[in-house]
Amino acid sequence: MLNDLPYLMGNGGDTMQVGVNGKRNYNEGGTFAFWAGGPVWYTILGMDQLDNLAENGFAGAPGTYARSTKVYGYGGYPNGRSIPQVYEVMEKAIEKGFVFKADTLEELAEKIGVPVDVFVNEVARYKGFCESGVDEDFGKSKRQLVDKIKYGPYYAIKFLPTPYSTIAALDVDTNINVLKADGTVMKGLYACGNDSGGVLYTEKDAYAQYGGVALGWAFTSGRLAGINAVNYLKNE
Ligand SMILES: Cc1cc2nc3c(=O)[nH]c(=O)nc-3n(C[C@H](O)[C@H](O)[C@H](O)COP(=O)(O)OP(=O)(O)OC[C@H]3O[C@@H](n4cnc5c(N)ncnc54)[C@H](O)[C@@H]3O)c2cc1C
Repeated sequence: MLNDLPYLMGNGGDTMQVGVNGKRNYNEGGTFAFWAGGPVWYTILGMDQLDNLAENGFAGAPGTYARSTKVYGYGGYPNGRSIPQVYEVMEKAIEKGFVFKADTLEELAEKIGVPVDVFVNEVARYKGFCESGVDEDFGKSKRQLVDKIKYGPYYAIKFLPTPYSTIAALDVDTNINVLKADGTVMKGLYACGNDSGGVLYTEKDAYAQYGGVALGWAFTSGRLAGINAVNYLKNE
């Protein structure tokens, strides 16, 4: 419960998230773009968020829970229950090294190792989007453009995007037969699922903004590969 707080505070689509370049890199309200900021991202919050949680808790009807909004659904905290322990939780998280706190945005940028000017401008830009209700950079919905950086001290919560799988580069034809570099079939060898997942994607773009593509490929290509492998053996 209490140990879920940094995650719950930082993972919502209504937060501002910056990558290692000190800038936003995607619509935080989207589904699968959070790899785009680099190996880690930082969610930026003001003390106003802690004060609000301490007094009011997470927004939502009693009996419901604050939970992850991004892919994973673990953890949770009862809505509508004040959380005076939030300050202590965040101090512990600072001690553990995944939350950073500073009196100014400049100092926070230094602590998380991003370019100070870029970061400070980006926060100002994002706050402007929250005020106007229009995200000129990534088109986040007005509902999720919430200014959660109202006053200091300021916090940065460090997150690590999790890869679901590694996608290998084996090329296959429509029979799921592995292809040689020259494009001809390597007889009797089939590669389904992630091992040939690269045929679906380009490394230049994000994963589809909906779930099921990887499993869909695993099931479909696996079935076809199985049928074709058996037929190949029968006919050899
Ligand atoms: C947390 C999580 C959530 C996901 N959610 C989704 C989702 O919502 N929708 C979606 O489409 N996809 C999702 N995926 C991705 C999807 O699960 C994978 O793309 C899919 O399972 C890949 O199937 P596969 O058969 O290619 O590989 P795997 O399922 O990884 O199967 C490979 C198998 O090979 C075995 N193996 C490895 N090495 C050897 C060896 N040397 N000898 C013998 N056996 C070996 C492994 O033990 C394993 O059983 C998710 C993945 C994760 C981790």
